[in-house]
Amino acid sequence: MKCHRCDGLMVVDHFIDIENTGHLWLCGWRCVSCGDVVDAEIMQQRHMQRSRLGRLTRSLTRKARKTFDLVKLSA
Ligand SMILES: [Zn+2]
Repeated sequence: MKCHRCDGLMVVDHFIDIENTGHLWLCGWRCVSCGDVVDAEIMQQRHMQRSRLGRLTRSLTRKARKTFDLVKLSA
């Protein structure tokens, strides 16, 4: 798995929640180059954001094409 920030190598790592109980262990991925950390929940959120962004981009592209066609025909 590659890091989304720097394309570095991601390795499995275990993390502990020291701010709250100190007993909550999490399993995630850590980049050996930049130190970015992701877990399953973060990856799911990023996937959902990319999906929403993709839908928005496609919608705006369609609207822009329609506007361009109208301008092109009327010019
Ligand atoms: Zn990285």
